[in-house]
Order: sequence, then C-alpha cells, then structure tokens
Amino acid sequence: MSEFDTICAIASAMTNSGIGIIRVSGEDAIEKVDNIFQGKNKLTEMDSHTVSYGHIVLDNKIIDEVMVLVLRAPRTYTRENTVEIDCHGGIIVMQQILKAVIAQGVRPAEPGEFTKRAFLNGRIDLSQAESVMDIIDSKSALALENSKNQLFGLLSKKIKEMRASIIYEIAFIESALDDPEHISLDGYEEKLRHKVISLENDINRMIQSADNGSMIKDGIKTSIIGKPNAGKSSLLNLLSKKERAIVTDIAGTTRDTLEEQIMLNGISLVIMDTAGIRQTDDVVEAIGVQKAIDTIDDADLILYVVDGSTDLDENDHQIIDKIKDSNVIVLLNKSDLNSKVSEDEISNLVNGPVITFSAKNGDGLDILEDKIDEMFFSGILSDDHEIYITNARHLNALTNAYNSMKNVEQSIDMCMPEDFLSIDLMEAYSQLGYIIGESIDDDLMDEIFSKFCTGK
Ligand code: GDP
Repeated sequence: MSEFDTICAIASAMTNSGIGIIRVSGEDAIEKVDNIFQGKNKLTEMDSHTVSYGHIVLDNKIIDEVMVLVLRAPRTYTRENTVEIDCHGGIIVMQQILKAVIAQGVRPAEPGEFTKRAFLNGRIDLSQAESVMDIIDSKSALALENSKNQLFGLLSKKIKEMRASIIYEIAFIESALDDPEHISLDGYEEKLRHKVISLENDINRMIQSADNGSMIKDGIKTSIIGKPNAGKSSLLNLLSKKERAIVTDIAGTTRDTLEEQIMLNGISLVIMDTAGIRQTDDVVEAIGVQKAIDTIDDADLILYVVDGSTDLDENDHQIIDKIKDSNVIVLLNKSDLNSKVSEDEISNLVNGPVITFSAKNGDGLDILEDKIDEMFFSGILSDDHEIYITNARHLNALTNAYNSMKNVEQSIDMCMPEDFLSIDLMEAYSQLGYIIGESIDDDLMDEIFSKFCTGK
C-alpha cells in the first residue's frame, strides 16, 4: 500500500449545495489534514471512524467551519487512511479547502482513483469497481438495482464459482498426466463433458441476459408509430408528464434531442425520434409515417397508436405490414370517443397485446406499464437475485469463455489428448478472470477508471 501517494478530491457535486465533501486518501492523509485543522481534538489522536468539529485554517486564516471524519486503514473505501472533510457546499469554499490540502503536498486525484485503489488494495474486484460507476450513472430504479447486485458481489460470486470448477478440472488433468500410475483418466472425458456443458449453459445464460441488461442500463428503445392524428404526440406528452421531475433530472435527456427518456415504474424507455413525433403537424403526412417506419428496425419495442375513432386506412395497413416481426404493443387510442375499430379487428392483424387506451385521459396507462414489464423483464423488478450483464467488456469475456468451453467439448468429441483439453479450459478460466480483474493489464485498467468521475 505504501507505494501509493496521498490523493485528494472534491467528492461531492461541483455545484452550490448544502454540504460539500473533500476526500483525502493515503498513508499520511490524517497528518496532512491535521496540519490545516483546528479543533478540540488532534486528528492524529482520534480513533478510527470518529468525527471532529473544527475549522480549516491556512496561514492563520479560517477557510471554513467543518466536520472531519477520520477513517483509519484498512477499514475504509480505499483500504488506506482516509479523511473526509464536510464543509459548506459552495464551489469556492470547496476549492479553497482542496487547495489548502494540496498545499500540504497532497496530489489531486485522477478520475476514479479512489475506486481504483479500492480495487488494487483488494477491497473489491474489478466488476464491483465498475458497478460503482454504474450506480452513480443509473438512469432507472431497475438499473440501480442491477448495479447494486453487482457491487454486492453477485456477479463476482458466480464467476468465482465457475472458475473454481474449471481450475479443479485443470488440476485433475495435470495431476493425472504427471502421475498416471495413481490417477486414472479412464472414463474421465464423459464426466468432464457433463461439467463443460453445464458451464456452457451457465455462461450462455449470462450472455443472453445482456440483451435485457442493456435495456436495463440504457433503457428500452421505443418507437411510437401511427398515422397522423392517431395520438402519438398526445401519448408522448402523457408519458413524459409522469414523473417529469425525474425525466428532466437525467443528464442528456433534454427536449431538443431526438431521443427522450421516460420512466415507467422504474423501467426506462428511450423514445426514438421524438422530434419527428412532436412535429407531425408540420410534416407532410406520408413523410411522417415513413420517418417512423425507419425507426422500426432499431427499436426494442413499438408502441403502435391506432385511432380507434376512425376506420383503419391505407396508412394503418402500411404500418401493420412493416411491424410484423417486431415487439409490438397496440394502443387502441381515443377510447373516450365512439369506437370504429374493435380489439378483435386489430388483434387479427397485429401480433402483440392490444390495450384500449386514451391518451387524453390516461386510461390504459397502468396496463401498458404492466405489459412492458411482462414483455421485457417478466416481472424481474421484484426479483433481486438475477444477474444481468450490462457491461460490454464482461460480455466479450463471457463470449470468449463460452467459445473456449465449446472447444473443450469438441476436443472431447474428437478424442484429443488431455493436454489439449486443459489448454482450452485454461483459456476459459483466464477469460472469466478478466471480468473480476485477474490478470488485466495497466492500460485496460487506466481506461476503465478514467471513465469515473473525480472524487470517486
Ligand atoms: P399525432 O399526429 O399522432 O401526434 O396525434 P396528436 O397527438 O397530435 O393527436 C391528434 C388529435 O387527437 C389531437 O387533437 C388530440 O387532442 C386528439 N387526441 C389524441 N388522443 C386522444 C384521445 O385519447 N382521446 C381524444 N378524444 N382525443 C385524442
């Protein structure tokens, strides 16, 4: 641990707020902050995990009134001595305190450096470290839930179990090859095949979960389509009015972008081409429909809005033809008016649930939420023990591990010598190891941690 210098950063947001936190980590973190702290206690004499009230003072000038938390290694986030200074949450005040800490010979931290140390000092593995960032970035309750599971080690546990199982077989093969007189490989291949297939299934399940995982993390790509005046923009308004505060709080979901993120009961929908929807009045009808049709292939979900108060027309039939192979939910809209289209009529034409709906008064919205949950997550909101792969790096390693296991299976079928088996088993073992950060190189590590925010 002593190879690391002491680092500091503002850990709270760089906006004016009630409280700001400056975090310092490293062997002499406590002494360094003590140099600029005046209070009842000397920080260096305080017990671990205790707080002291006082002032940060530099050159006889009080910078701020603070509470200082002293955390001694190894029971800290980084496993190093750590000090957290709770100060007033103004940008200038936080910066002045940070400067005062730096003036004691402490280095400003790189983005993610605290978490990197937590990883390098063995407190968490790499998949857990990555989940820390995902928790901070979570765009929905479901994404948060999944990231927390990863932080609590659900993914790591599964990976470690699989690796333990693989290394057992490698060790067995190696010992048998070393000592054929005492350890026999007779009939071993059949036993190994069972194990390999079971591992392949486990890995494959995780690979398959990545589809849902990316929808959990980034939202379900949703296209709202329907003929002009069906009620698309009314639907969009209805959806975005729900929990508007949350919608506008999410970075990158400003109204002027083409995509809009909407939360439905913890599930996030990314509505594609909202500009197109909101502008339908200005756009020639045919172009409006065509634009929507262009988004069909990219969408995870199509919300097809049908104007139930008028007969289906040419536009509808054109749309129905295009969405045959998609995940569709039909909203039979304008249920508050006299209906010209029945649920049966539309059910016969489109694959997917039909919901009688009114974008005007919100009828059917609850059913829509349930249907989406059922369709994509089959109720996983309530199940907190599933692992969903949300990280491309993990997916890549799992895919490589899967291919190596397939090679093992093939080698068994072709009666290849045992040392061939152990080479591919070893490869699968290493690939799974990348996920939890065994044997990764410095460049990759730097790349992963550089995506973090400073102070984490
Ligand atoms: P778009 O062209 O598909 O985006 O359709 P709009 O959302 O602009 O709606 C067209 C017209 O239908 C507007 O006058 C809306 O107020 C009206 N409308 C939309 N949904 C409903 C509904 O559920 N009930 C009723 N009565 N009118 C609706």
